[in-house]
Amino acid sequence: MLKISEFNHNLLGWYQSNKRALPWRQTQDPYRIWLSEVMLQQTQVITVIPYYEKFITRYPDIDSLADADEEALLKDWEGLGYYNRIRNFQAAVREVRDSYGSVVPDQPEAFFKLKGVGPYIGGAVQSIAFNHLLAAVDGNVLRVISRLDADRRDMTKASVQKDIKHRIEEIIPLEAGDFNQALMELGATICTPRAPKCIMCPVQENCEAYKESIVAELPVKKKAKQKNELYYNVYFILNDRGEVLLRKQEGTLLQGMYELPKYDVDTSIESIGEELGIDVDTSGVHIGSSKHVFTHQVWYMEGYMLHTRSPHPGFVPLREVENLPMSRAMQKLYRLFESENG
Ligand code: SF4
Repeated sequence: MLKISEFNHNLLGWYQSNKRALPWRQTQDPYRIWLSEVMLQQTQVITVIPYYEKFITRYPDIDSLADADEEALLKDWEGLGYYNRIRNFQAAVREVRDSYGSVVPDQPEAFFKLKGVGPYIGGAVQSIAFNHLLAAVDGNVLRVISRLDADRRDMTKASVQKDIKHRIEEIIPLEAGDFNQALMELGATICTPRAPKCIMCPVQENCEAYKESIVAELPVKKKAKQKNELYYNVYFILNDRGEVLLRKQEGTLLQGMYELPKYDVDTSIESIGEELGIDVDTSGVHIGSSKHVFTHQVWYMEGYMLHTRSPHPGFVPLREVENLPMSRAMQKLYRLFESENG
């Protein structure tokens, strides 16, 4: 068990002297704090920094992001992945503009009702921006708490995560935002997954795993499910005007992003032409292979070039392709095509 006052004092003191000067720590603007937390979900700090700075320049406040064109927003998000995050964020920001006069609600109940706001984002924004006594439990925090408490439960279980959130909310001090950030910072810089720097740890005296010499055994995480392996053929269908056929994705996690037509490997070129309503030459030229690893899937893609004289509304001039939002998986394939064609 943690000795609360001593623990909080040591952790907060360490945080104040050692925190990294991250750009979203230089502001008290709830919108900017919220934006940073949306970006930081599933993405490392080092990757997020340039995106955060770009977004703050282009969309400095609620109104500018609410009014942004979705395609431009997706293009600016390109490369960060998990595109639902930015679509949900824009929907939530529009709700803040329309229902709260463009002021981020300082009431957890209202904030938690916004699209895309789950326990982590809600806890992080409401504690950091407004000091509400809420926990923000991410992977770093789970690791730190599991070691501090020598907790051998499976940290991937939702019930365990919920319990840890309640445990933190029992001890969270009035400086709730700093406390949450301090736990995350400790996990990111000291209590790391491998080779934690226990010797430099400000809460070593409170750490049960350290006392029991079981740090390396924690946290317990049940084996991740094996990723689904999917095999696709991806087609660069060109016409005589130097245009390539792209599709805008609908009803998937990549909704709103553009993709080259992709099909299961056993789909014949004839049936692809039929489905697209165009005539294609059937001697597709192989231009290369690519692999992309998502959280739960691995895509193995083979790229082929086809030619058609048929019209289709999805044709886009090649020089305009770079302005359209495209997932990283598709970009990899597209680069193969570019290097093949100079
Ligand atoms: Fe983590 Fe080591 Fe500190 Fe315990 S003593 S909280 S294991 S860094």
